[in-house]
Amino acid sequence: MITLSVPTRQRIDLVDITSQVQQEVDKCGVVDGLLSIYVPHTTCGVTINESADPDVAEDIKMQLSKLVPHEGGYRHYEDNADSHIKTSIIGSSETVFIENGKLVMGTWQGIFLCDFDGPRTRKVYLKFIKE
Ligand code: ZN
Repeated sequence: MITLSVPTRQRIDLVDITSQVQQEVDKCGVVDGLLSIYVPHTTCGVTINESADPDVAEDIKMQLSKLVPHEGGYRHYEDNADSHIKTSIIGSSETVFIENGKLVMGTWQGIFLCDFDGPRTRKVYLKFIKE
């Protein structure tokens, strides 16, 4: 298993980690197989969506914050209940195919680490499964 360390810049931040993940695919030498991407945090997740237009990530952040505002009369004592809820909506893992040593993704797709309680340095676990 490989661990990436990804610094985030704001309380709510979507960081495109696609090239970092592809670098690990290059290093590990897997030609065909699967990559499991897992984020071991309760207030930070991972998603795949459009990376061509950065406004898409901004819209996701804005709309999630409308759906689940920071202040919401939550019971959780840490003042980050919204971060936990947003993380459950986004999810903690993604699976991507690897073919010919490359991540198989759509032209406009990117892999985003989604921090909902930053800024801080987050871990991303990568596990390759060879075909
Ligand atoms: Zn908490």
